Formats: sequence, C-alpha cells, structure tokens
Amino acid sequence: MNYISPTAISDRGLELLSATFWFSVLATFLLCVAGYSSSSQSSSLKPYVTGNFVHDWWFGIQLNPHFLGIDLKFFFVRAGMMGWLLINLSILARSILNATLSQSMILYQTFCAIYVLDYFIHEEYMTSTWDIIAERLGFMLVFGDLVWIPFTFSIQGWWLLTNKAELTTAATIANCLVFVIGYLVFRGSNKQKHMFKKNNKALIWGKPPKVVGGKLLASGYWGIARHCNYLGDLLLALSFSLPCGISSPIPYFYPMYLLILLIWRERRDDARCAEKYKDIWAEYTKLVPWRILPYVY
Ligand code: NDP
Repeated sequence: MNYISPTAISDRGLELLSATFWFSVLATFLLCVAGYSSSSQSSSLKPYVTGNFVHDWWFGIQLNPHFLGIDLKFFFVRAGMMGWLLINLSILARSILNATLSQSMILYQTFCAIYVLDYFIHEEYMTSTWDIIAERLGFMLVFGDLVWIPFTFSIQGWWLLTNKAELTTAATIANCLVFVIGYLVFRGSNKQKHMFKKNNKALIWGKPPKVVGGKLLASGYWGIARHCNYLGDLLLALSFSLPCGISSPIPYFYPMYLLILLIWRERRDDARCAEKYKDIWAEYTKLVPWRILPYVY
C-alpha cells in the first residue's frame, strides 16, 4: 500500500544495527537497575547485596524478569527471531527489485524462513533449554537476541545481495540434504528431551526410554551424543551458508561462530549438570561418552 518500502530495512542496515545496539545497552542498564532495586527490597537476599560492586552488579541481573506481566526473556527472543525474518524479507525484496534474485538467495531464504517459523510453532520446547532455565537476562542475552540473531544470522543474505554463487545440481541437492538432516536432528532431539521432561515414560523412537537415575534420558538422540541438538543446529547453520558457495569465508561466519558458542556452552552445561546430578551425570557420561559428534568429539 506504499506506506513503507519493503526495502526500508535492507537499505538502512547499518543505521538499524547501530540503533539496535544502543537500545540493547539501554535495556540492559534498565534491567540491572530494576533487578538491583528489587533484590535490595528483599530481606532474604540482603546478605548478597552487601558484597563488593562486581557481586552487586552481577546480582542485579535477574534470571527471568517480567515487565507488565510480560516475560522479557521470551519477548527479546521473539523480537530477535522476527527481526531476522523481517531483515531477510527486506533483503529478498531488494534482490527482486534489483533483478538479481538467484537460486542461492531462494535456498537461503527458504531455509531461514522454515527455521524461524518452526521456532514459533515449537516455542514451548524452549522452556526446557539452557537460556530459559540457567542464563540470566543481562547484556549477553539481550545483545544476542536483539542484535546478534537478526544481524549476524542474515550475513549470508546481505552477502548474496552483492555477490553471485553458481551452484551445480549436485551441490544444491547436497545443500538441501544438509538442511533436512540438520532439521530432523535439531528438532527431534529437542523434542525428545522436552517430552521426556514432561513424562519420563514417553516412548522414544517407539520404545520405552532408557533412563539414568530416574532423571536423565539416555536413549534416542540423547543416547547417541550428549548434545545432538547442537549438532543439528550446526548442520542447519552450515546449510544456510552453503548456498553462497565456497568463494568467500564471510557467509561462513555464522556456522563458525555457532561452533565456538556451542562448544563453549556444552562445557558450561556439562559442568552445571555434573554439579546438579553428581553420580547420575557421571554414569550418564560413561554410557554416552560423545559430547556433540559421535566418534569425533
Ligand atoms: P539444552 O536444550 O541441551 O539444555 C541443556 C539442559 O538439558 C541441561 O542443563 C539439563 O537441564 C538438561 N539435560 C541435559 N542432558 C539431559 C538428558 N540426557 N536428559 C534429560 N535432561 C537433560 O541446551 P541449550 O538450551 O543450550 O540448547 C537448546 C537448543 O537451542 C539447541 O538445539 C541449541 O543448538 C539451540 N541454540 C541455538 C543458538 C543459536 O545461536 N542459534 C544459541 C544457543 C542455543 P536440567 O537441569 O533441566 O535437567
């Protein structure tokens, strides 16, 4: 209806990036102030508040803050996922207007759109993930949701706006396969864990689950490696970059970053679970020795 140009976002990427960055700095500051003042009012938490500045500052960062009844953690993740899709759609509009729409762009756009829509369909599974149960809502999460997700996950799209990649039929088929396998592993493993948390007798691949110490799932994807869900996500990230070919490393920034992030996160999660589950975790790690990729890591 000509109210706003569909290329408004793709034409002003840097301005939006800068505005979103400063918004997340401001949002983090407000979250810390709100968290600090609410913890100061709670007498049971007072001993911690009298510690040093770093401790107080850290203490101000809450696990699951709410504002006007809205869960801010979910709010920011949703904003980030929607922002990513909007950026991509705007990039798509720009490439159509420039008459440079390519097969690579269509593949990249399709994979990402499925990933984002799938997030909203299965958002309930998020409630048993690390970000929700263990990560405090400070700068890392706010910046990650509002700036990192929409802008770095769309790097391949920005790159394809100004660069070309010729894909053979075999490469296109291989790319689709990486996406499909990544999706099945990612979605399947996250779903299995979520279902298990709700009902530890729920069937896994049609069989009763193998359970360690009554608490940990050791069959299905969770019997192959301790974080198959990370493996699936990494394959998906790779499938978003493969449409760009291999002439430049820039489109591979996202899978490379995710590889580092997930290896680091797996180590943190492992330490957390070892402390929480003690002997049960040791038994599970003996039973399932691979962390992410069987026979490699
Ligand atoms: P997980 O969903 O794997 O959650 C880890 C938690 O699950 C553990 O702390 C533990 O929590 C529980 N758990 C671990 N092993 C078992 C088991 N065998 N049986 C039962 N419970 C178990 O981790 P994340 O939240 O890090 O990841 C969720 C998804 O989000 C992944 O697919 C990941 O790839 C994706 N992700 C994507 C990112 C991106 O930038 N694209 C960034 C981060 C994550 P408890 O104490 O409840 O038992």
